[in-house]
Amino acid sequence: MNDALQLKNVSYSYHTKFGETYALYDINLTLPQGSFISVVGPSGCGKSTLLSLIAGTIKPESGSVLIGGKPASESDSQIGYMLQHDHLFEWRSVYGNVILGLEIRKKKTSDNLHHVNALLDQYGLGDFKGSKPSELSGGMRQRAALIRTLALEPDILLLDEPFSALDYQTRLTVSDDIGTIIRQERKTAILVTHDLSEAISMGDTVYVLSKRPGHIKASIPIEFADNITPMERRSAPEFKDYFNTLWRELNENA
Ligand code: ADP
Ligand code: MG
Repeated sequence: MNDALQLKNVSYSYHTKFGETYALYDINLTLPQGSFISVVGPSGCGKSTLLSLIAGTIKPESGSVLIGGKPASESDSQIGYMLQHDHLFEWRSVYGNVILGLEIRKKKTSDNLHHVNALLDQYGLGDFKGSKPSELSGGMRQRAALIRTLALEPDILLLDEPFSALDYQTRLTVSDDIGTIIRQERKTAILVTHDLSEAISMGDTVYVLSKRPGHIKASIPIEFADNITPMERRSAPEFKDYFNTLWRELNENA
């Protein structure tokens, strides 16, 4: 089977009338199907740019992005995005929101709707289909946003600081929840975060980017006992060693 994603020698600069911003330099990255990586790095180092290159909204200046073994432009793989704000429409019901992507793409088939209903039931939103987003907790809103993304059966999920608008305590439970769902659904995922603990609790590997132009300065394999949740990882004895390693890598940067 092809790797879900491969970036080869990818570099990127933004060109504006004010000049050039060199954002990413010689990025090499391979994600087997079903892997979950975290990316950390200083603010402005090119993390969101990396996700835009993978999503195909911008093209690499040099190097290549292969999705399922094909150039991003030729690939029919679906990319799903999850952002800091859930972007749920307040005037639509929860159900109306989670099927929105299917509606827009004219993919509201009975199979797809069945899948959405199964996801809502499995992840505790079955009784809230008719509710308005404002009636949900912050955590349930993020879960609804994830199900909206999963409804399109993305091959790769891109998460750009999806929890950073939540307060600390909610953030712990929501990241546990979302991380567990993504694993259960066996999705290939990339989490961008500036929270080192979150990166360790969710990823199989944590990639550390240098300051701009972002370059991968370390990749740290994260190994915990199989099938433990992000929350359980946080209290495992290895956790603090990973934290210290990452902290050192990031601060060598500064
Ligand atoms: P991060 O997500 O790591 O904070 P970004 O990928 O958003 O960083 O940005 C990397 C660099 O590129 C920053 O210096 C940012 O100001 C610049 N940048 C981002 N988007 C644009 C754009 N559309 N045009 C020009 N410069 C941009
Ligand atoms: Mg960003």
